[in-house]
Amino acid sequence: MNDVKKPIATPPQKSTFAIGIPFYLAHPDLTDLHAERIGIIEGFNRVEVLRYLRHEMGHVVNYAYRLYEQEAWVKCFGSITQPYLEEYRPVPFSRRYVRHLPGWYAQKHPDEDWAETFAIWMTPNLDWRAEYADRPTALAKLNYCEKTTTVLADHEPVTTVTELDEEVGELTYSVDQYYKNLASGEINFPVGLDGSLRAIFEDLGNPEDHVNVSRKPASALIRRLERDLMANVFRWTGHFPERTRPLLRHLADRADLTIHFYPISRTQPNGSSSI
Ligand SMILES: [Zn+2]
Repeated sequence: MNDVKKPIATPPQKSTFAIGIPFYLAHPDLTDLHAERIGIIEGFNRVEVLRYLRHEMGHVVNYAYRLYEQEAWVKCFGSITQPYLEEYRPVPFSRRYVRHLPGWYAQKHPDEDWAETFAIWMTPNLDWRAEYADRPTALAKLNYCEKTTTVLADHEPVTTVTELDEEVGELTYSVDQYYKNLASGEINFPVGLDGSLRAIFEDLGNPEDHVNVSRKPASALIRRLERDLMANVFRWTGHFPERTRPLLRHLADRADLTIHFYPISRTQPNGSSSI
């Protein structure tokens, strides 16, 4: 049930490391169900699966060899004991990090920075030296990775315990309950969302301003663009779709209550909107 995006384990407490595969990739019915309940599937096709696996392999190598204890590792990536924040604030296009998973993921935590660096290093036919030639900080991380993995090739992992992490047969809840629990988690929406809605829609006018102009409720637009917005938000900020969807639905509800509209003429023929 582990999510491939999350760290596999917190190093100090765990002695066995494994790569968790999301259960919804195990069967097409589950994949369809996940798409329906969450709205988006990550890591679905071969290219994406390999991209995630390379990242997760970075975590495994880190924990198995306890690289995070090395001074050089800490110098490159920072301390692994830094708090792991789900709501991180990346600097888009930062040249200090490699780019691999969506959402500037390397900026989430030193452990993710390492895993992303490892993934780039491991990508077949990628000339990372050329790609990062003008990004000295990111290149130094890749060089550390190259140097370290070369040494590791002749050494056994420090951690070799292979105890089962979790027995699937012992799970006491159903798939349906799993999704219900996800949806029922308390969400503290940020304050000021009404102000954001106003900033987006107010200039487009009130329904009574131009009686001859066809208008639709703003909530309809937000709901229609839900899937695209979730994918784009994930790509550009790393905010997970399952967290974005409740926010968008809340925004749509607020738009109904605060009565925002948009002119249909601003909607482009391909279904997207210029708003
Ligand atoms: Zn990770």
